[in-house]
Amino acid sequence: MNSPENAVRKVIPIVPAEADEELISLYAAHEKIYPRSVSGFFSNWRWGTVFLTQLVFYGMPWIEWGQRQAILFDLGSRRFYIFGLVLYPQDFIYLAGILVISALSLFLFTAVAGRLWCGYACPQTVYTEIFLWIEKKVEGDRSARMRRDAQGLSADKVGRKTLKHVLWLAVAVWTGFTFVGYFTPIKDLGLEVLQMNMGSWEVFWTVFYGFATYGNAGFMREQVCKHMCPYARFQSAMFDKDTLIVTYDAERGDPRGARSRKADPTALNLGACIDCTLCVQVCPTGIDIRNGLQYECIGCGACADVCDTVMDKMGYERGLVKYTTENAMNNKWTQAQTWSHIFRPRILVYTAILGAIVTATVVSLSMRTEFKVNVVRDRAVTARVVSGGKTENVYQLQVMNATEATQRYQITATGLPGLTITSDSLVVVESTQARKLAVRVQAPFEVAAPGSHPIEFLIDSLDSPGHLSEKSVFLIPK
Ligand code: SF4
Ligand code: SF4
Repeated sequence: MNSPENAVRKVIPIVPAEADEELISLYAAHEKIYPRSVSGFFSNWRWGTVFLTQLVFYGMPWIEWGQRQAILFDLGSRRFYIFGLVLYPQDFIYLAGILVISALSLFLFTAVAGRLWCGYACPQTVYTEIFLWIEKKVEGDRSARMRRDAQGLSADKVGRKTLKHVLWLAVAVWTGFTFVGYFTPIKDLGLEVLQMNMGSWEVFWTVFYGFATYGNAGFMREQVCKHMCPYARFQSAMFDKDTLIVTYDAERGDPRGARSRKADPTALNLGACIDCTLCVQVCPTGIDIRNGLQYECIGCGACADVCDTVMDKMGYERGLVKYTTENAMNNKWTQAQTWSHIFRPRILVYTAILGAIVTATVVSLSMRTEFKVNVVRDRAVTARVVSGGKTENVYQLQVMNATEATQRYQITATGLPGLTITSDSLVVVESTQARKLAVRVQAPFEVAAPGSHPIEFLIDSLDSPGHLSEKSVFLIPK
């Protein structure tokens, strides 16, 4: 008889429980983004800034001003020509003024409407837009490009890719050439290119700038914005709840879901978002704006443009994705209310400071004397008593003519009774040149006690308005 102990034992295999954790690689492989082309209000603005900035960048070096290039940064002779202005390293203060104005403008525009610079005017955005346009013309829009990339090699694929890279390289080299044309007269540079005798630095910078354009706009694209540009990281410090940002209206859009155009979304318990993912497909950084504000968003408005076209097709109200503020969304403000909060105290303070600095820079530039003078007492010649009972001091004066015409300057000295200049007091300086001269100054011996006495050199420009005074000292020996 089979006792229960003798019965065949049923073996239940013990399978090790699956670990809950799953290994996640900290290194995410880069997925190529194929932005779909888009048209609409914000896209038009972006193309407007692309045309404007590139018209200025490519066109400016070809404009002449008198006998020279209108804008030329001549590093060799340390002169910067900007139309009628000739700036020297001593005018560095104006460059500092321009940098402060740029930084403040960036703060102001970012506080008003987020990453306007990134989305519309940054060279990375502008050249990516141009390169994408070429890519679309040669390889077709997103789906055609994705299909071709997934296929094997074919004559058509090789031909189109080659043509695309040739066109990209042409734009990149022309960009590098134009960049160098701001530092070397561009017509001379063009001749050097034709004669194949460019200088080594000119070759280096043309290739370097061209290669950077080709690499950044053709290959790196959104990677530059996401991982290399520091602005993306600190932008949130300039945002507040009244900053206009591209926003998905989740309350109106969710729950998302596909439906026919005729269907009633309320009956289907659906929001306005038809989950077509077009907003993701047009995004140059490949993000989904429906997940909220993300640091990758460059505020280009492409998702708002495409979503408006979807809303139009569905017969829904536009603006499911739009520029709005956090406060406007939370408080359901009208457009007028939203705008009234945009011009908040912070913005008014930024605007006032910016206005003051712009005014100060412009006024200072317009009042700038177009010559400079440095006075150094000649240490090699000490004060000495000369014939006629006079004391003589010798000074080295450096007069710099910042205009583009020869100028005459009259020098006089004041500060002690009977102070006279006994050397040539009329100086002629060629255009944009500097001239050093020794100036002998005499004063009657008994005019003051032995020691050091402050005096002033007065320099008057005779051919253009301008007057300068420079302080120095006159030594009377015991
Ligand atoms: S484009 Fe508009 S409707 Fe389409 S998924 Fe994006 S938010 Fe939804
Ligand atoms: S989320 Fe919209 S606004 Fe932001 S980068 Fe993408 S397309 Fe542009």
